[in-house]
Amino acid sequence: MGTLQGELMYLNNLVVNTTYPGAQQAGTSRSSMSLPRPKSSGLLGSEGSCYESLCEQQPIGRRLFRQFLLDSNSQYAAAAKLLEDFDYWQHMEDEAKEKAKMSVLAKFCQPESRTFLFSHAGDAAEKYTSLSISNFDEAAMEHVREATRTFLKGGPFSEYLKSPFFYRFLQWKEYEKQKITRKYFYEFRTLGRGGFGEVCAVQVKHTGQMYACKKLDKRRLKTKGGERLALIEKQILEKANSRFVINLAYAYEDRTHLCLVIDLMSGGDLKFHIYDLGKRGIRMERVVYYVAQITSGILHLHSMDIVYRDMKPENVLLDAKGQCRLSDFGLAVELPKGKKICQKKGYIGAGTTGYMAPEILRQENYGMSVDWWSVGCSIYEMVAARLPFKDFKEKVQNEEVTRRTLEDDCKFQHSDFDAPVKDLISHFLKKKVQNRLGCRGDDPRNHVFFKGINFHRLEAGLAEPPWVPKPNVIYAKDMDAFRTASEVEDVKLDSKDERFFKEFSTGAVPVRWQKEMIESGTFDLLNSSELNASCQESVCF
Ligand code: ADP
Ligand code: MG
Ligand code: MG
Repeated sequence: MGTLQGELMYLNNLVVNTTYPGAQQAGTSRSSMSLPRPKSSGLLGSEGSCYESLCEQQPIGRRLFRQFLLDSNSQYAAAAKLLEDFDYWQHMEDEAKEKAKMSVLAKFCQPESRTFLFSHAGDAAEKYTSLSISNFDEAAMEHVREATRTFLKGGPFSEYLKSPFFYRFLQWKEYEKQKITRKYFYEFRTLGRGGFGEVCAVQVKHTGQMYACKKLDKRRLKTKGGERLALIEKQILEKANSRFVINLAYAYEDRTHLCLVIDLMSGGDLKFHIYDLGKRGIRMERVVYYVAQITSGILHLHSMDIVYRDMKPENVLLDAKGQCRLSDFGLAVELPKGKKICQKKGYIGAGTTGYMAPEILRQENYGMSVDWWSVGCSIYEMVAARLPFKDFKEKVQNEEVTRRTLEDDCKFQHSDFDAPVKDLISHFLKKKVQNRLGCRGDDPRNHVFFKGINFHRLEAGLAEPPWVPKPNVIYAKDMDAFRTASEVEDVKLDSKDERFFKEFSTGAVPVRWQKEMIESGTFDLLNSSELNASCQESVCF
Protein backbone atom coordinates (compact mmCIF):
# COMPACT_ATOMS: atom_id res chain seq x y z
CA MET A 1 0.00 0.00 0.00
CA GLY A 2 2.81 2.36 0.95
CA THR A 3 4.49 2.06 -2.40
CA LEU A 4 1.23 2.43 -4.27
CA GLN A 5 0.43 5.66 -2.43
CA GLY A 6 3.91 6.84 -3.18
CA GLU A 7 3.53 6.03 -6.82
CA LEU A 8 0.20 7.83 -7.01
CA MET A 9 1.63 10.94 -5.41
CA TYR A 10 4.52 10.83 -7.79
CA LEU A 11 2.13 10.50 -10.69
CA ASN A 12 -0.01 13.35 -9.41
CA ASN A 13 2.92 15.69 -9.23
CA LEU A 14 4.07 14.64 -12.60
CA VAL A 15 0.70 15.20 -14.20
CA VAL A 16 0.30 18.59 -12.54
CA ASN A 17 3.42 19.67 -14.30
CA THR A 18 2.63 18.30 -17.70
CA THR A 19 -1.02 18.42 -18.67
CA TYR A 20 -1.86 22.09 -18.84
CA PRO A 21 -2.16 23.32 -22.39
CA GLY A 22 1.22 24.53 -23.41
CA ALA A 23 2.90 22.29 -20.89
CA GLN A 24 1.73 19.46 -23.12
CA GLN A 25 3.92 20.59 -25.93
CA ALA A 26 6.76 21.51 -23.69
CA GLY A 27 8.64 18.35 -24.47
CA THR A 28 8.48 16.84 -21.00
CA SER A 29 10.43 13.71 -20.51
CA ARG A 30 7.69 11.21 -21.19
CA SER A 31 9.76 8.18 -20.42
CA SER A 32 9.81 9.14 -16.74
CA MET A 33 6.04 8.81 -16.37
CA SER A 34 4.38 5.73 -15.01
CA LEU A 35 0.94 4.53 -14.03
CA PRO A 36 0.49 2.52 -10.83
CA ARG A 37 0.78 -1.26 -10.91
CA PRO A 38 -2.63 -2.94 -10.63
CA LYS A 39 -3.29 -4.99 -7.53
CA SER A 40 -3.97 -8.62 -8.33
CA SER A 41 -7.46 -9.03 -6.88
CA GLY A 42 -10.80 -7.28 -6.98
CA LEU A 43 -9.67 -4.83 -9.62
CA LEU A 44 -12.84 -4.32 -11.49
CA GLY A 45 -15.13 -3.89 -8.51
CA SER A 46 -18.86 -3.71 -8.79
CA GLU A 47 -19.03 -2.53 -12.39
CA GLY A 48 -18.39 -6.07 -13.49
CA SER A 49 -16.14 -7.48 -16.12
CA CYS A 50 -18.54 -7.90 -19.02
CA TYR A 51 -17.87 -6.81 -22.58
CA GLU A 52 -20.43 -3.99 -22.42
CA SER A 53 -18.87 -2.38 -19.36
CA LEU A 54 -15.21 -2.95 -20.29
CA CYS A 55 -15.27 -2.27 -24.00
CA GLU A 56 -18.27 0.02 -24.55
CA GLN A 57 -19.42 1.97 -21.50
CA GLN A 58 -16.15 2.91 -19.83
CA PRO A 59 -14.46 5.50 -22.05
CA ILE A 60 -10.87 4.43 -21.36
CA GLY A 61 -11.82 0.78 -21.78
CA ARG A 62 -13.45 1.59 -25.09
CA ARG A 63 -10.34 3.45 -26.30
CA LEU A 64 -7.95 0.68 -25.29
CA PHE A 65 -10.09 -2.06 -26.79
CA ARG A 66 -10.19 -0.12 -30.06
CA GLN A 67 -6.43 0.34 -30.00
CA PHE A 68 -6.06 -3.39 -29.40
CA LEU A 69 -8.28 -4.20 -32.40
CA LEU A 70 -6.46 -1.82 -34.74
CA ASP A 71 -3.16 -3.23 -33.58
CA SER A 72 -4.09 -6.92 -33.94
CA ASN A 73 -4.98 -7.90 -37.51
CA SER A 74 -6.87 -6.57 -40.50
CA GLN A 75 -10.06 -8.43 -39.61
CA TYR A 76 -10.26 -7.01 -36.06
CA ALA A 77 -9.37 -3.60 -37.42
CA ALA A 78 -12.20 -3.84 -39.97
CA ALA A 79 -14.66 -4.60 -37.17
CA ALA A 80 -13.46 -1.62 -35.14
CA LYS A 81 -13.82 0.71 -38.12
CA LEU A 82 -17.24 -0.66 -38.99
CA LEU A 83 -18.54 0.12 -35.47
CA GLU A 84 -17.03 3.55 -35.58
CA ASP A 85 -18.78 4.32 -38.85
CA PHE A 86 -22.07 3.17 -37.36
CA ASP A 87 -21.76 5.68 -34.54
CA TYR A 88 -20.98 8.37 -37.03
CA TRP A 89 -23.86 7.39 -39.30
CA GLN A 90 -26.42 7.42 -36.48
CA HIS A 91 -25.85 11.07 -35.71
CA MET A 92 -25.78 12.39 -39.24
CA GLU A 93 -28.57 14.02 -41.18
CA ASP A 94 -29.70 13.97 -44.80
CA GLU A 95 -26.83 14.02 -47.27
CA ALA A 96 -24.14 13.39 -44.67
CA LYS A 97 -26.14 10.41 -43.45
CA GLU A 98 -26.29 8.92 -46.94
CA LYS A 99 -22.55 9.42 -47.28
CA ALA A 100 -21.92 7.72 -43.94
CA LYS A 101 -24.09 4.83 -45.09
CA MET A 102 -21.99 4.39 -48.21
CA SER A 103 -18.93 4.27 -46.02
CA VAL A 104 -20.48 1.56 -43.84
CA LEU A 105 -21.43 -0.40 -46.95
CA ALA A 106 -17.95 -0.11 -48.37
CA LYS A 107 -16.40 -1.41 -45.15
CA PHE A 108 -19.06 -4.07 -44.84
CA CYS A 109 -18.21 -5.40 -48.30
CA GLN A 110 -14.50 -5.70 -47.60
CA PRO A 111 -13.30 -9.31 -47.48
CA GLU A 112 -12.07 -8.86 -43.88
CA SER A 113 -15.48 -7.91 -42.54
CA ARG A 114 -17.42 -10.27 -44.78
CA THR A 115 -15.69 -13.22 -43.15
CA PHE A 116 -17.00 -12.45 -39.68
CA LEU A 117 -20.28 -10.97 -40.77
CA PHE A 118 -21.17 -14.06 -42.76
CA SER A 119 -20.47 -16.32 -39.83
CA HIS A 120 -22.50 -14.17 -37.41
CA ALA A 121 -25.31 -12.70 -39.47
CA GLY A 122 -25.75 -15.86 -41.58
CA ASP A 123 -28.36 -15.68 -44.32
CA ALA A 124 -29.09 -12.08 -43.49
CA ALA A 125 -25.58 -11.01 -44.48
CA GLU A 126 -25.96 -12.79 -47.79
CA LYS A 127 -29.18 -10.94 -48.38
CA TYR A 128 -27.62 -7.57 -47.54
CA THR A 129 -24.76 -7.96 -49.97
CA SER A 130 -27.26 -8.21 -52.77
CA LEU A 131 -29.15 -5.08 -51.66
CA SER A 132 -28.59 -1.79 -53.35
CA ILE A 133 -27.77 1.26 -51.26
CA SER A 134 -31.30 2.57 -51.27
CA ASN A 135 -32.65 -0.72 -49.92
CA PHE A 136 -30.06 -0.92 -47.20
CA ASP A 137 -32.32 0.42 -44.46
CA GLU A 138 -31.96 1.10 -40.73
CA ALA A 139 -32.95 -2.46 -39.80
CA ALA A 140 -30.25 -3.87 -42.06
CA MET A 141 -27.71 -1.46 -40.55
CA GLU A 142 -28.72 -2.54 -37.05
CA HIS A 143 -28.38 -6.20 -38.00
CA VAL A 144 -24.86 -5.72 -39.33
CA ARG A 145 -23.91 -3.78 -36.21
CA GLU A 146 -25.17 -6.54 -33.91
CA ALA A 147 -23.34 -9.19 -35.93
CA THR A 148 -20.13 -7.16 -35.58
CA ARG A 149 -20.57 -6.89 -31.81
CA THR A 150 -21.29 -10.61 -31.50
CA PHE A 151 -18.06 -11.30 -33.32
CA LEU A 152 -16.08 -8.96 -31.05
CA LYS A 153 -17.53 -10.40 -27.84
CA GLY A 154 -16.07 -13.79 -28.74
CA GLY A 155 -12.44 -14.41 -29.67
CA PRO A 156 -11.27 -10.79 -29.89
CA PHE A 157 -12.56 -9.98 -26.38
CA SER A 158 -10.83 -12.99 -24.75
CA GLU A 159 -7.59 -12.13 -26.53
CA TYR A 160 -7.91 -8.53 -25.39
CA LEU A 161 -8.17 -9.64 -21.75
CA LYS A 162 -4.73 -11.23 -22.09
CA SER A 163 -3.14 -8.34 -23.94
CA PRO A 164 -0.96 -5.46 -22.70
CA PHE A 165 -3.83 -3.16 -23.64
CA PHE A 166 -6.01 -4.65 -20.93
CA TYR A 167 -3.14 -4.57 -18.46
CA ARG A 168 -2.96 -0.88 -19.22
CA PHE A 169 -6.70 -0.59 -18.53
CA LEU A 170 -6.18 -2.18 -15.11
CA GLN A 171 -3.47 0.37 -14.38
CA TRP A 172 -5.88 3.19 -15.18
CA LYS A 173 -8.50 1.56 -12.94
CA GLU A 174 -5.96 1.53 -10.13
CA TYR A 175 -5.24 5.21 -10.68
CA GLU A 176 -8.99 5.89 -10.75
CA LYS A 177 -9.32 4.49 -7.22
CA GLN A 178 -7.01 7.05 -5.63
CA LYS A 179 -8.26 8.76 -2.51
CA ILE A 180 -9.84 12.13 -3.27
CA THR A 181 -9.33 15.00 -0.83
CA ARG A 182 -9.83 18.75 -1.10
CA LYS A 183 -6.19 19.06 -2.17
CA TYR A 184 -7.19 17.49 -5.49
CA PHE A 185 -8.97 20.76 -6.46
CA TYR A 186 -8.48 24.50 -6.65
CA GLU A 187 -11.50 26.30 -5.24
CA PHE A 188 -13.10 29.36 -6.84
CA ARG A 189 -16.08 31.58 -6.25
CA THR A 190 -19.42 30.70 -4.69
CA LEU A 191 -22.11 29.99 -7.28
CA GLY A 192 -25.07 29.64 -5.01
CA ARG A 193 -26.28 28.50 -1.65
CA GLY A 194 -28.45 25.54 -0.77
CA GLY A 195 -30.07 24.20 2.37
CA PHE A 196 -26.92 22.47 3.66
CA GLY A 197 -24.12 24.67 2.45
CA GLU A 198 -22.71 26.50 -0.52
CA VAL A 199 -21.99 25.49 -4.09
CA CYS A 200 -18.71 26.74 -5.52
CA ALA A 201 -16.67 26.39 -8.70
CA VAL A 202 -13.64 24.08 -8.48
CA GLN A 203 -10.91 22.95 -10.86
CA VAL A 204 -9.08 19.63 -10.83
CA LYS A 205 -5.44 20.57 -10.37
CA HIS A 206 -3.87 18.06 -12.67
CA THR A 207 -6.30 18.13 -15.59
CA GLY A 208 -7.63 21.69 -15.50
CA GLN A 209 -11.23 20.38 -15.66
CA MET A 210 -13.80 22.74 -14.08
CA TYR A 211 -16.69 21.47 -11.94
CA ALA A 212 -19.17 22.73 -9.37
CA CYS A 213 -18.79 21.45 -5.82
CA LYS A 214 -21.93 21.17 -3.70
CA LYS A 215 -20.84 21.15 -0.07
CA LEU A 216 -23.02 19.67 2.61
CA ASP A 217 -22.21 20.71 6.15
CA LYS A 218 -21.92 17.50 8.21
CA ARG A 219 -23.34 19.01 11.37
CA ARG A 220 -26.17 20.73 9.57
CA LEU A 221 -27.03 17.44 7.84
CA LYS A 222 -27.20 15.72 11.19
CA THR A 223 -29.28 18.41 12.91
CA LYS A 224 -31.81 18.56 10.12
CA GLY A 225 -31.92 14.79 9.55
CA GLY A 226 -30.59 15.30 6.03
CA GLU A 227 -28.13 12.40 5.90
CA ARG A 228 -30.51 9.98 4.25
CA LEU A 229 -31.63 12.59 1.71
CA ALA A 230 -28.02 13.46 0.91
CA LEU A 231 -27.28 9.82 0.19
CA ILE A 232 -30.33 9.49 -2.08
CA GLU A 233 -29.29 12.62 -3.96
CA LYS A 234 -25.75 11.31 -4.33
CA GLN A 235 -26.91 7.92 -5.58
CA ILE A 236 -29.19 9.48 -8.17
CA LEU A 237 -26.51 11.88 -9.42
CA GLU A 238 -24.13 8.92 -9.64
CA LYS A 239 -26.54 6.71 -11.53
CA ALA A 240 -27.66 9.32 -14.02
CA ASN A 241 -25.68 9.09 -17.19
CA SER A 242 -27.30 11.62 -19.46
CA ARG A 243 -26.29 14.93 -20.94
CA PHE A 244 -29.62 16.33 -19.73
CA VAL A 245 -29.13 15.51 -16.06
CA ILE A 246 -26.39 16.79 -13.73
CA ASN A 247 -23.79 14.04 -13.39
CA LEU A 248 -21.53 13.30 -10.45
CA ALA A 249 -17.76 13.21 -11.00
CA TYR A 250 -16.43 12.79 -7.43
CA ALA A 251 -17.83 12.31 -3.93
CA TYR A 252 -15.45 12.98 -1.04
CA GLU A 253 -15.35 14.36 2.49
CA ASP A 254 -13.23 16.78 4.40
CA ARG A 255 -13.33 17.45 8.11
CA THR A 256 -16.51 19.50 8.02
CA HIS A 257 -18.31 18.75 4.75
CA LEU A 258 -19.48 16.06 2.38
CA CYS A 259 -18.74 17.21 -1.14
CA LEU A 260 -20.47 16.38 -4.40
CA VAL A 261 -18.41 17.40 -7.42
CA ILE A 262 -20.80 17.83 -10.34
CA ASP A 263 -21.07 19.34 -13.83
CA LEU A 264 -20.45 23.08 -13.72
CA MET A 265 -23.41 25.04 -15.04
CA SER A 266 -22.31 28.62 -15.50
CA GLY A 267 -25.27 29.87 -17.55
CA GLY A 268 -27.68 30.26 -14.63
CA ASP A 269 -31.06 28.65 -14.00
CA LEU A 270 -34.13 29.04 -16.21
CA LYS A 271 -36.04 30.95 -13.54
CA PHE A 272 -33.40 33.67 -13.74
CA HIS A 273 -33.70 33.67 -17.52
CA ILE A 274 -37.49 33.98 -17.36
CA TYR A 275 -37.69 36.86 -14.86
CA ASP A 276 -34.40 38.66 -14.45
CA LEU A 277 -33.07 39.56 -17.89
CA GLY A 278 -35.13 42.43 -19.24
CA LYS A 279 -38.09 41.18 -21.26
CA ARG A 280 -40.01 38.57 -19.25
CA GLY A 281 -40.31 35.07 -20.63
CA ILE A 282 -38.13 33.13 -23.05
CA ARG A 283 -38.51 33.28 -26.82
CA MET A 284 -40.09 30.27 -28.48
CA GLU A 285 -37.05 28.91 -30.33
CA ARG A 286 -35.24 28.60 -27.00
CA VAL A 287 -38.31 27.19 -25.25
CA VAL A 288 -38.53 24.37 -27.83
CA TYR A 289 -34.85 23.53 -27.38
CA TYR A 290 -34.94 23.57 -23.56
CA VAL A 291 -38.17 21.61 -23.36
CA ALA A 292 -36.71 18.96 -25.71
CA GLN A 293 -33.72 18.61 -23.38
CA ILE A 294 -35.88 18.63 -20.24
CA THR A 295 -38.15 15.97 -21.77
CA SER A 296 -35.13 13.81 -22.61
CA GLY A 297 -33.82 14.28 -19.06
CA ILE A 298 -37.15 13.31 -17.48
CA LEU A 299 -37.39 10.25 -19.74
CA HIS A 300 -33.89 9.24 -18.64
CA LEU A 301 -34.84 9.50 -14.95
CA HIS A 302 -38.08 7.60 -15.53
CA SER A 303 -36.22 4.86 -17.41
CA MET A 304 -34.37 4.27 -14.12
CA ASP A 305 -37.68 4.33 -12.18
CA ILE A 306 -36.79 7.65 -10.59
CA VAL A 307 -39.54 10.22 -9.95
CA TYR A 308 -37.98 13.69 -9.92
CA ARG A 309 -40.79 15.49 -8.02
CA ASP A 310 -39.14 18.91 -8.23
CA MET A 311 -39.43 19.83 -11.90
CA LYS A 312 -39.47 23.64 -12.16
CA PRO A 313 -37.42 26.23 -14.11
CA GLU A 314 -35.32 27.02 -11.02
CA ASN A 315 -33.92 23.50 -11.10
CA VAL A 316 -32.97 23.55 -14.78
CA LEU A 317 -29.43 24.87 -15.17
CA LEU A 318 -27.64 26.08 -18.32
CA ASP A 319 -24.01 25.31 -19.07
CA ALA A 320 -21.53 27.61 -20.80
CA LYS A 321 -22.67 26.43 -24.25
CA GLY A 322 -26.35 27.06 -23.56
CA GLN A 323 -27.46 23.44 -23.07
CA CYS A 324 -29.53 22.53 -20.05
CA ARG A 325 -29.60 19.83 -17.40
CA LEU A 326 -31.91 18.90 -14.55
CA SER A 327 -30.42 19.47 -11.09
CA ASP A 328 -31.25 19.24 -7.37
CA PHE A 329 -32.38 15.70 -6.62
CA GLY A 330 -33.16 16.28 -2.96
CA LEU A 331 -36.80 15.28 -3.49
CA ALA A 332 -36.33 12.50 -6.04
CA VAL A 333 -37.19 8.90 -5.18
CA GLU A 334 -36.46 5.61 -6.82
CA LEU A 335 -39.55 3.45 -7.02
CA PRO A 336 -39.56 -0.34 -6.99
CA LYS A 337 -40.83 -1.49 -10.44
CA GLY A 338 -44.53 -0.82 -10.89
CA LYS A 339 -44.96 0.63 -7.38
CA LYS A 340 -46.50 4.01 -6.55
CA ILE A 341 -45.77 6.54 -3.85
CA CYS A 342 -48.29 6.27 -1.01
CA GLN A 343 -49.17 9.54 0.69
CA LYS A 344 -49.94 9.90 4.35
CA LYS A 345 -53.36 11.40 4.91
CA GLY A 346 -53.35 14.98 6.09
CA TYR A 347 -49.84 15.60 4.80
CA ILE A 348 -49.35 17.51 1.56
CA GLY A 349 -46.78 15.70 -0.49
CA ALA A 350 -43.47 16.66 -1.97
CA GLY A 351 -43.03 19.45 -4.49
CA THR A 352 -43.32 23.18 -4.89
CA THR A 353 -46.60 25.17 -4.76
CA GLY A 354 -47.81 25.91 -8.25
CA TYR A 355 -46.11 22.91 -9.87
CA MET A 356 -47.77 20.06 -7.94
CA ALA A 357 -50.02 17.69 -9.87
CA PRO A 358 -53.69 17.17 -8.96
CA GLU A 359 -53.04 13.58 -7.82
CA ILE A 360 -50.54 14.86 -5.22
CA LEU A 361 -52.94 17.57 -4.06
CA ARG A 362 -55.78 15.04 -3.84
CA GLN A 363 -53.50 12.92 -1.65
CA GLU A 364 -53.75 9.93 -3.96
CA ASN A 365 -50.98 7.45 -4.65
CA TYR A 366 -48.89 8.59 -7.58
CA GLY A 367 -45.93 7.82 -9.82
CA MET A 368 -44.06 9.33 -12.79
CA SER A 369 -47.17 11.24 -13.97
CA VAL A 370 -46.46 14.11 -11.55
CA ASP A 371 -43.28 15.06 -13.43
CA TRP A 372 -45.16 15.55 -16.72
CA TRP A 373 -47.66 17.82 -15.01
CA SER A 374 -44.77 19.94 -13.65
CA VAL A 375 -43.19 20.02 -17.12
CA GLY A 376 -46.50 21.46 -18.40
CA CYS A 377 -46.44 24.17 -15.68
CA SER A 378 -42.79 24.95 -16.45
CA ILE A 379 -43.38 25.39 -20.20
CA TYR A 380 -46.30 27.69 -19.43
CA GLU A 381 -44.00 29.71 -17.16
CA MET A 382 -41.22 29.95 -19.76
CA VAL A 383 -43.66 31.52 -22.22
CA ALA A 384 -45.89 33.65 -19.99
CA ALA A 385 -43.61 34.43 -17.00
CA ARG A 386 -46.30 33.22 -14.62
CA LEU A 387 -47.74 29.86 -13.63
CA PRO A 388 -50.99 28.47 -15.03
CA PHE A 389 -52.67 28.67 -11.61
CA LYS A 390 -50.64 31.36 -9.88
CA ASP A 391 -49.56 34.78 -11.10
CA PHE A 392 -45.96 35.93 -10.64
CA LYS A 393 -45.43 37.02 -7.02
CA GLU A 394 -49.18 36.72 -6.41
CA LYS A 395 -49.94 36.70 -2.69
CA VAL A 396 -52.26 33.74 -2.49
CA GLN A 397 -52.86 30.94 -0.02
CA ASN A 398 -51.69 27.46 -0.97
CA GLU A 399 -55.29 26.24 -0.53
CA GLU A 400 -56.45 28.59 -3.29
CA VAL A 401 -53.69 27.39 -5.67
CA THR A 402 -54.79 23.85 -4.86
CA ARG A 403 -58.43 24.71 -5.59
CA ARG A 404 -57.55 26.33 -8.93
CA THR A 405 -55.31 23.41 -9.90
CA LEU A 406 -58.07 20.91 -9.19
CA GLU A 407 -61.03 22.87 -10.60
CA ASP A 408 -60.03 25.58 -13.07
CA ASP A 409 -59.17 25.26 -16.73
CA CYS A 410 -55.78 26.48 -17.83
CA LYS A 411 -56.14 29.79 -19.71
CA PHE A 412 -53.76 31.04 -22.37
CA GLN A 413 -54.05 34.82 -22.31
CA HIS A 414 -50.49 35.72 -23.18
CA SER A 415 -50.01 36.55 -26.87
CA ASP A 416 -46.83 34.46 -27.16
CA PHE A 417 -48.66 31.13 -26.92
CA ASP A 418 -48.80 29.66 -30.42
CA ALA A 419 -50.93 26.66 -31.40
CA PRO A 420 -48.32 23.88 -30.93
CA VAL A 421 -47.20 25.07 -27.48
CA LYS A 422 -50.82 25.50 -26.34
CA ASP A 423 -51.59 21.98 -27.46
CA LEU A 424 -48.51 20.55 -25.73
CA ILE A 425 -49.24 22.32 -22.43
CA SER A 426 -52.93 21.35 -22.52
CA HIS A 427 -51.92 17.70 -22.89
CA PHE A 428 -49.42 17.85 -20.02
CA LEU A 429 -52.01 19.63 -17.85
CA LYS A 430 -54.72 16.96 -18.11
CA LYS A 431 -56.09 16.61 -14.62
CA LYS A 432 -56.75 12.88 -15.04
CA VAL A 433 -53.52 10.89 -15.15
CA GLN A 434 -54.86 8.47 -17.77
CA ASN A 435 -55.40 11.36 -20.22
CA ARG A 436 -52.06 13.08 -19.64
CA LEU A 437 -49.30 13.20 -22.25
CA GLY A 438 -46.44 10.93 -21.19
CA CYS A 439 -48.72 8.75 -19.05
CA ARG A 440 -50.63 6.88 -21.74
CA GLY A 441 -47.80 4.67 -22.90
CA ASP A 442 -47.01 7.47 -25.36
CA ASP A 443 -43.80 9.39 -25.98
CA PRO A 444 -44.02 13.19 -25.61
CA ARG A 445 -41.12 13.55 -28.06
CA ASN A 446 -43.49 12.69 -30.89
CA HIS A 447 -45.61 15.79 -30.30
CA VAL A 448 -45.74 18.25 -33.21
CA PHE A 449 -44.21 20.92 -30.92
CA PHE A 450 -40.87 19.09 -31.38
CA LYS A 451 -41.05 18.77 -35.16
CA GLY A 452 -37.86 20.84 -35.60
CA ILE A 453 -35.86 18.71 -33.15
CA ASN A 454 -33.78 15.70 -34.14
CA PHE A 455 -33.62 13.84 -30.82
CA HIS A 456 -30.75 11.60 -32.00
CA ARG A 457 -28.58 14.64 -32.59
CA LEU A 458 -29.76 16.27 -29.40
CA GLU A 459 -28.75 13.14 -27.43
CA ALA A 460 -25.36 13.20 -29.12
CA GLY A 461 -24.82 16.87 -28.24
CA LEU A 462 -24.83 17.83 -31.92
CA ALA A 463 -27.88 20.14 -31.91
CA GLU A 464 -26.63 23.73 -31.76
CA PRO A 465 -28.14 25.71 -28.85
CA PRO A 466 -30.24 28.66 -30.09
CA TRP A 467 -28.65 30.93 -27.50
CA VAL A 468 -25.19 30.93 -25.90
CA PRO A 469 -24.49 32.60 -22.53
CA LYS A 470 -22.01 35.47 -22.68
CA PRO A 471 -18.78 34.40 -21.01
CA ASN A 472 -18.37 37.63 -19.02
CA VAL A 473 -21.87 37.73 -17.51
CA ILE A 474 -22.84 36.12 -14.21
CA TYR A 475 -26.33 34.69 -14.64
CA ALA A 476 -27.35 34.80 -11.01
CA LYS A 477 -28.65 37.32 -8.55
CA ASP A 478 -26.12 39.38 -6.68
CA MET A 479 -24.27 37.29 -4.10
CA ASP A 480 -25.70 39.53 -1.35
CA ALA A 481 -29.09 38.15 -2.27
CA PHE A 482 -28.01 34.71 -1.05
CA ARG A 483 -29.23 34.23 2.46
CA THR A 484 -26.36 33.73 4.84
CA ALA A 485 -26.29 30.36 6.50
CA SER A 486 -27.53 30.33 10.06
CA GLU A 487 -25.25 29.00 12.75
CA VAL A 488 -25.53 25.31 13.50
CA GLU A 489 -25.96 24.14 17.03
CA ASP A 490 -23.05 22.30 18.47
CA VAL A 491 -23.91 18.70 17.60
CA LYS A 492 -21.52 15.85 18.22
CA LEU A 493 -20.73 13.52 15.36
CA ASP A 494 -20.43 9.90 16.49
CA SER A 495 -18.97 6.75 14.96
CA LYS A 496 -22.24 5.98 13.20
CA ASP A 497 -22.04 9.34 11.44
CA GLU A 498 -18.40 8.69 10.55
CA ARG A 499 -19.36 5.35 9.02
CA PHE A 500 -22.02 7.06 6.97
CA PHE A 501 -19.59 9.74 5.77
CA LYS A 502 -17.15 7.01 4.67
CA GLU A 503 -19.88 5.18 2.78
CA PHE A 504 -20.76 8.45 1.05
CA SER A 505 -17.20 9.30 0.04
CA THR A 506 -16.63 6.93 -2.85
CA GLY A 507 -14.13 9.07 -4.75
CA ALA A 508 -14.08 9.25 -8.54
CA VAL A 509 -17.09 8.07 -10.57
CA PRO A 510 -15.57 5.80 -13.24
CA VAL A 511 -17.28 6.91 -16.47
CA ARG A 512 -17.04 10.61 -15.67
CA TRP A 513 -13.44 10.36 -14.45
CA GLN A 514 -12.35 8.47 -17.54
CA LYS A 515 -13.99 11.09 -19.76
CA GLU A 516 -12.04 13.75 -17.89
CA MET A 517 -8.78 11.87 -18.46
CA ILE A 518 -9.48 11.63 -22.18
CA GLU A 519 -10.84 15.15 -22.72
CA SER A 520 -7.97 16.78 -20.82
CA GLY A 521 -5.37 14.92 -22.88
CA THR A 522 -4.01 13.11 -19.80
CA PHE A 523 -4.93 9.76 -21.27
CA ASP A 524 -3.07 10.30 -24.54
CA LEU A 525 -0.11 11.76 -22.77
CA LEU A 526 0.42 8.93 -20.33
CA ASN A 527 -0.73 6.20 -22.58
CA SER A 528 1.29 6.70 -25.69
CA SER A 529 4.55 6.80 -23.81
CA GLU A 530 3.79 3.80 -21.66
CA LEU A 531 2.07 1.45 -24.00
CA ASN A 532 5.03 1.31 -26.30
CA ALA A 533 7.25 0.45 -23.39
CA SER A 534 5.00 -2.22 -21.92
CA CYS A 535 4.15 -3.77 -25.28
CA GLN A 536 7.75 -4.72 -25.64
CA GLU A 537 7.89 -6.36 -22.25
CA SER A 538 6.18 -9.66 -21.81
CA VAL A 539 3.27 -9.06 -19.51
CA CYS A 540 2.68 -11.25 -16.48
CA PHE A 541 -0.64 -11.55 -14.66
P1 ADP B 1 -30.34 22.65 -2.50
O1 ADP B 1 -30.75 21.27 -2.78
O2 ADP B 1 -29.80 22.80 -1.11
O3 ADP B 1 -31.41 23.65 -2.84
P2 ADP B 1 -29.07 23.12 -5.01
O4 ADP B 1 -28.60 21.86 -5.61
O5 ADP B 1 -30.36 23.65 -5.52
O6 ADP B 1 -29.10 22.98 -3.43
O7 ADP B 1 -27.91 24.21 -5.16
C1 ADP B 1 -28.03 25.50 -4.59
C2 ADP B 1 -27.72 26.59 -5.62
O8 ADP B 1 -26.37 26.45 -6.09
C3 ADP B 1 -28.57 26.53 -6.89
O9 ADP B 1 -29.75 27.26 -6.74
C4 ADP B 1 -27.64 27.14 -7.95
O10 ADP B 1 -27.69 28.55 -7.89
C5 ADP B 1 -26.27 26.72 -7.48
N1 ADP B 1 -25.85 25.49 -8.18
C6 ADP B 1 -26.22 24.23 -7.86
N2 ADP B 1 -25.67 23.32 -8.68
C7 ADP B 1 -24.92 24.02 -9.55
C8 ADP B 1 -24.08 23.64 -10.67
N3 ADP B 1 -23.93 22.36 -11.01
N4 ADP B 1 -23.45 24.62 -11.36
C9 ADP B 1 -23.63 25.91 -11.00
N5 ADP B 1 -24.40 26.33 -9.98
C10 ADP B 1 -25.03 25.41 -9.24
MG1 MG C 1 -32.32 24.03 -4.83
MG1 MG D 1 -32.31 20.13 -2.93
